[in-house]
Amino acid sequence: MPNNTGPFSAEYEQQRLQALASYQILDTPEEMAFDDIAEVASIICDAPIAVINFIDSDRQWFKSEKGLGVRETPLDISICKHAILQPGLFIVPDTEQDSRFANNPLVTGEPHLRFYAGALLESSDGYPLGTLCVLDYQPRELTERQRFALQALANQVMAHMELMQAHREQAKLIRELKITRNRLAEHAAEDPLTGLLNRRAFEQRLHQELALIQSGTPPATLIMIDLDHFKKVNDTHGHQAGDEILVSFTELFRKAFRQSDVLGRWGGEEFLGMLPMTSMEKAQCAIRRLHQLLATTPMLETASPPLHITVSIGVCSLTAYSDFDECLQRVDDLLYQAKEAGRNRTVCESQEPTSP
Ligand code: GH3
Ligand code: MG
Ligand code: MG
Repeated sequence: MPNNTGPFSAEYEQQRLQALASYQILDTPEEMAFDDIAEVASIICDAPIAVINFIDSDRQWFKSEKGLGVRETPLDISICKHAILQPGLFIVPDTEQDSRFANNPLVTGEPHLRFYAGALLESSDGYPLGTLCVLDYQPRELTERQRFALQALANQVMAHMELMQAHREQAKLIRELKITRNRLAEHAAEDPLTGLLNRRAFEQRLHQELALIQSGTPPATLIMIDLDHFKKVNDTHGHQAGDEILVSFTELFRKAFRQSDVLGRWGGEEFLGMLPMTSMEKAQCAIRRLHQLLATTPMLETASPPLHITVSIGVCSLTAYSDFDECLQRVDDLLYQAKEAGRNRTVCESQEPTSP
């Protein structure tokens, strides 16, 4: 019924339509749970037609219908729209004798409806949404028991809709909970200063990668990076500036490597990179890029003269024979060799130190 011409105030009608919309029932497919209720109503009331009907803004729509053959009809010829004006049951024993319906085309023409009994479908907050109704081609009445049963079935329709609504809300909450849990997990895996993986998360990824390699994935490369003389940088420019440099370094670290590479902060001014399916030679290209970026990018905007930092790097392969602790120890040893050899350089497994 249109907002401004219906029997309810426009505001109430809007709230009523909102309540109806909240059940998300309109235009849904037929469902056995509702069809069974309509069928039982028809059997109990001994009526050829039974309908679960909702009054929308400009139409009445049938969630279930038995004996009518249509799923919606215009509102202006609806009998149910009168039924939702009052609580409980609305009964029209003979439509031809009722001035409200005597000229209704459903009464004067096909299917010549003569009898109507509708039980209100009411939302949990008291809005009339539609009816469960039975209709007949001849004037008649309902017995007390039939009236009781019709109203009880209408209550069951609403109980079912309430359950469906609660189920939807629960599913929505579960989805939101999963999103929050994923976000929390991401945060738990993140180093707060640089946003890189923290040590624990990196170790987890390393374990996973080693398992993949053992099951046939091509070897990867592991690199360990330590900022050179970082204590001196802190002592000269302050701890805060040191933090800024760690963040700036992270940007270059990300830039030099691929998005698929796993980058982490091992702790302090030490970083790790795990490059899946990457040969030592390919890894060295990325490492050269990093050394070059560091050489050409001032690290601290406020420093004059411009401050550049260097790093020492150890590199080893991750193969099917690699052991988790052993490969971390090995890459740490290689890094130590790079430090010993004068810093600002990279030492790869089974290779002499190479300056950038
Ligand atoms: P090396 O070339 O041998 O690596 O010398 P280094 O000074 O870099 O190494 P050392 O281990 O002596 O000192 C590391 C310094 O890194 C000490 C510490 O103040 C600094 N550092 C560690 N973590 C942080 C941090 O989160 N923020 C800042 N600003 N400094 C840090
Ligand atoms: Mg260190
Ligand atoms: Mg250092």
